[in-house]
Amino acid sequence: MTAVLIALIRCDGPDCGAETHTPFETSRASVVRRFRRPGGWRTRPGGRDLCPACWKTGHR
Ligand SMILES: [Zn+2]
Repeated sequence: MTAVLIALIRCDGPDCGAETHTPFETSRASVVRRFRRPGGWRTRPGGRDLCPACWKTGHR
């Protein structure tokens, strides 16, 4: 009955599937995005998430 809610964001790059989350508990993807932005994760208009590797290779 107890659910630990950890929001997960997944890279939308082609053939990627990288995932990231916060080291603390949150159910909000927006919190994860803000937390991971300094690490290179980006969110494109429309809500697509890109990991640092895909961002660098230009899958935007
Ligand atoms: Zn990726």
